[in-house]
Amino acid sequence: MASLIEAGWTYLITHFSDFQLACVGSFFLHETVFFLSGLPFVYIERAGWLKKYKIQAKNNTTEAQEKCITRLLFYHFCVNLPVMLASYPVFSFMGMKSSLPLPSWKVISTQILFYFIVEDFIFYWGHRILHTKWLYKHVHSVHHEYATPFGLTSEYAHPAEILFLGFATIFGPAITGPHLITLWLWMVVRVLETVEAHCGYHFPWSPSNFLPLYGGSDFHDYHHRLIYTKSGNYASTFVYMDWIFGTDHGYRKLQALKNEEVADIKDN
Ligand SMILES: [Zn+2]
Ligand SMILES: [Zn+2]
Repeated sequence: MASLIEAGWTYLITHFSDFQLACVGSFFLHETVFFLSGLPFVYIERAGWLKKYKIQAKNNTTEAQEKCITRLLFYHFCVNLPVMLASYPVFSFMGMKSSLPLPSWKVISTQILFYFIVEDFIFYWGHRILHTKWLYKHVHSVHHEYATPFGLTSEYAHPAEILFLGFATIFGPAITGPHLITLWLWMVVRVLETVEAHCGYHFPWSPSNFLPLYGGSDFHDYHHRLIYTKSGNYASTFVYMDWIFGTDHGYRKLQALKNEEVADIKDN
């Protein structure tokens, strides 16, 4: 397996320049993972499948779904792509490498865990600031247009917020100078994580059922369905920031009520 990955990587670095891989390659990888993981939820919601796992009873209209997709494509090509192309000097400056040997799984997983912690911290504070009156009205309300989120709405946001999200995502790698393969894997798991958080479904196999401290769809869906001054649950990945800073009271109360109901049903 390791030699297969190395052979594939050798092909990439001998056929493409670092610039092509880091900028254009990252863009295509992002688009592929984002749409492949997000689009199924559009069709699941339309078809009414897996309804018993849907968090909210409300459904999005086809027009609302299409508006999200069109706007996303526009932003991805007109905001994300130019930013990725222009940020190549930053990638080089931070010591990113693409050469062999590839880093070990230990190094890759430690770095990615570190990026998750750093991103979650920056995102939490930035997100809280985005919920102040002026910034909410002029910037963050775009992301909250969808009170019933579905996978693709995870990246539906004002261009200024897209830049902030990019900063939070790249800050960890920028201070550690990772290998390109680590950067790609980080991008892939981060996209999958944010699509899951917005998917609108809480399945028995959802990662939040198994991973301690992980927020996931139930946690973030709550943030979307409440009005902006009362929502709480500001963190992107973990639950501890909201717990430490006391911004998850409403969500915890609701969870306690749900647990009581379940216990009552079992008792009867
Ligand atoms: Zn918000
Ligand atoms: Zn959201």
